Amino acid sequence: MSNLQALQDKLHYDKTFDCVQCGYCLPACPTYETMERETHSPRGRINLVKMVAEGKATVNDLENPIEKCLGCMACTTVCPTNVQYGQILEGAKEVIDEQKVKTKRQQKTEQFLFEQFFPSRKWMDTLGDATWFYQTSGLQKLAQRTGLSKVAPLHISEFEKVLPSMPSPNKRRQRVKRYIRKRPSTTKVAFFTGCIMDSVFFESNENTIELLLRSGAEVLIPEEQSCCGALHAHTGKTESAVELAKQNIEAFEKEQVDYIINNAGGCGAKLIEYDHLFEIGTEWHERAERFVEKVKDISEVLVELDYLEFSTPLNKTVTYQPSCHMTNVQGVTEAPLELIKKIPGVRLKELDRPDFCCGSAGVYNIVNYEDAMDILDVKMKDVCGVQPEGIVTSNPGCLLQMKLGVEREGLTGKIDTVHLVDLLMEAEPKMVQ
Ligand code: SF4
Ligand code: SF4
Repeated sequence: MSNLQALQDKLHYDKTFDCVQCGYCLPACPTYETMERETHSPRGRINLVKMVAEGKATVNDLENPIEKCLGCMACTTVCPTNVQYGQILEGAKEVIDEQKVKTKRQQKTEQFLFEQFFPSRKWMDTLGDATWFYQTSGLQKLAQRTGLSKVAPLHISEFEKVLPSMPSPNKRRQRVKRYIRKRPSTTKVAFFTGCIMDSVFFESNENTIELLLRSGAEVLIPEEQSCCGALHAHTGKTESAVELAKQNIEAFEKEQVDYIINNAGGCGAKLIEYDHLFEIGTEWHERAERFVEKVKDISEVLVELDYLEFSTPLNKTVTYQPSCHMTNVQGVTEAPLELIKKIPGVRLKELDRPDFCCGSAGVYNIVNYEDAMDILDVKMKDVCGVQPEGIVTSNPGCLLQMKLGVEREGLTGKIDTVHLVDLLMEAEPKMVQ
């Protein structure tokens, strides 16, 4: 195979011809709206990929437009020709990553982050422990008072202000691996805990388990599960994403369950596309397909089980900021709204443009901070128009980003931002009999 042919395969050159340049995707694209450049629109990006595959542009030309893409997939839902933009984007990221000249230090940092840090239970526990110590020892207050937190790189000081309070290391390590209801269960599920979700948003994971139990399900937590690989795939580390997918498929197929549940829109979108990582007709593709069939967001299963009955009315107005990956990749849109509407006393006011990304997008808001804040400002205008007392989200990244938006608008204390499962638990659902 020639070098050009190999490059075209990686870039999914054949798929770029599905784009008929109609421009229907332009109004849906947040980066086209905020950056106002054709190269930073879905159509422009696809064109550039095609030009690189034909040798008419360089990988260098592609780098900035692709790195500025949120990967929100809003363009795919409005595209009349069903262009597989997600595959084109991941291919482009892989090619850019391969050709990037990196210093030894950058290589080592990436290697550590993607191969050791995210996939490791131990490192995630350490992250949780360190955050807990930072928050409870007085260090956080000191760093904020003295301005020391501002010297942290990549605007991390902005995000540490909005981190949830961490439970103690003891509490996190005491979690049991199998939750069996005292009465016979109607449904058996395995819970995908996520890496960041299970360290920084541990309480939301606990609430997810509790909601499943109260809905009558038996819950298992396969110990050998790992990070979903979304961050790896989004940064062009396809091989690592494939390895993580294999590890998760193996871990979950050991248990006979009805569903594999997740509560993070971004992770769920990766899990539900595991079959795309393997060649059709291979054993791994078949195993991935069986895995994918069982993947569900927590909201879908709670609606399906239909047992939740709440004891405590919540007297508040909330709005819902859906995760782009949950909407545009998983196709889950109605279940979270249905659950919110079921809570007595909650008034749901929908956003004008719920499908407009909040700017979180994995690590986008860390590596492209200024651009992410421009997008967040658009989102917050919409939120302020609704004037809610609470924002409900379904993904950890969106949750932090929306908290940051609230903080930037000076609305801390007036608008509370929570994960859907936390709102549901606040209304104290009864245990199914
Ligand atoms: S909507 Fe689809 S076909 Fe039309 S320009 Fe956008 S990507 Fe191309
Ligand atoms: S994925 Fe989102 S940011 Fe990227 S081109 Fe599509 S709509 Fe625009």
